[in-house]
Amino acid sequence: MSTYHARYALLPDGLARDVTFELRGNAFASVTANTDPGGARRLPGIVLPGFANAHSHAFHRALRGRTHDHGGTFWTWRERMYAVAGRLDPDTYLALARATYAEMALAGVTSVAEFHYLHHAPDGRRYDDPNAMAEVLRMAAADAGIRLTLLDACYLRGGLDADGHRAPDATQRRFCDADVDAWAARVDALRESDGMRVGAAIHSVRAVPRESLAAVGSAAGNRPLHVHLSEQPAENEACAQYYGCTPTELLGDTGVLRRTLTAVHATHLLDGDIELLGAAHATACFCPTTERDLADGIGPARALRDAGVALSLGSDQHAVIDLLEEARALESHERLSSLRRGRLRPADLLDALTAHTSIGWPEAGRLAAGARADLVAVRLDTPRTAGIDPAQVVLAATASDVDTVLVDGDVVVDGGRHRLGDVGALLEAAIEPLWCES
Ligand SMILES: [Zn+2]
Repeated sequence: MSTYHARYALLPDGLARDVTFELRGNAFASVTANTDPGGARRLPGIVLPGFANAHSHAFHRALRGRTHDHGGTFWTWRERMYAVAGRLDPDTYLALARATYAEMALAGVTSVAEFHYLHHAPDGRRYDDPNAMAEVLRMAAADAGIRLTLLDACYLRGGLDADGHRAPDATQRRFCDADVDAWAARVDALRESDGMRVGAAIHSVRAVPRESLAAVGSAAGNRPLHVHLSEQPAENEACAQYYGCTPTELLGDTGVLRRTLTAVHATHLLDGDIELLGAAHATACFCPTTERDLADGIGPARALRDAGVALSLGSDQHAVIDLLEEARALESHERLSSLRRGRLRPADLLDALTAHTSIGWPEAGRLAAGARADLVAVRLDTPRTAGIDPAQVVLAATASDVDTVLVDGDVVVDGGRHRLGDVGALLEAAIEPLWCES
């Protein structure tokens, strides 16, 4: 049994003082407020539950700070994203994903949902193990010390316009399976392990035609099912022209809307879409730092929540890996779009930060006996956090203020250092070669 003590902690019923955490194996045996530290190891600042990063494309980390020249348009970004996607193989992907997940651990992430579509070799051929790239992600997360939900994305077509779906282009071939049955058979071969669970994803209604949506839904069963939904107006326009409905209505018509569904972005929704997602008790995953980087717009977070949709957060393309910043942006973007403050309370932001259930880890995300022993100690004595009310830490702290991170009882980050060592050096070694002209 190991024991930790913190001056402050955010427990399920709010801010508590002088909290002792007793760990047995990978779970909390007890969490008790108003205690003396005794012989417990002392943690600095305030302890929060581990964060869930509900939307990640690990390889996009290589794009940070590389897409703002030549006008910095969406097309600049996409051209670079395809360039990186075309250069990765299992070895280089392992190095990049391991370093990216280590950066997440430094930011307090204890579970990540990887929306995985980099399936095959660059020419579209299957690797000898058709899940070689997924196995790379399993290894990367294990090395970085965080849990992984592998959301294997069905990706069949290259895009959608008024005339229907386009064939995949040369870069997209490695994202695609031949048909939905080939996708489902490949996913069926994935095995769960201690630190990895398997879910499913529909890349988008642009990449999966109507006749295959229901098949993805039934293959997902009760597992998490995620979909990029209405990120940009162009998707809505193409869907309206070709199908005569919104992307959300299309998901509803094909039986995909459900409690285990997460709509990623959910930026450009009509009122009826919000009602449909609410009636299904689905989750909406906002990725505010990505949505502003890509000029997507601001989604209706408060309206979704009022309709009964749970909110989660993702760092998506990793222009920033700071889940505290994502949580803060959820509220600050609402302020900009509504011209009102206090749209989401600090406790609502903490719920979004810890939405592990939406990615298949319902036993994680709270500081309570029986829950997985994840915790994030955030310093309260840095230039950013000194003097704050600890109850409002989510509105002030950044990833740089994370001092200690435990995942399933293991110390992964200690004193702001990851157990793998210099994560900046790991990232540099993984990313620089991808941009060398050969
Ligand atoms: Zn995405």
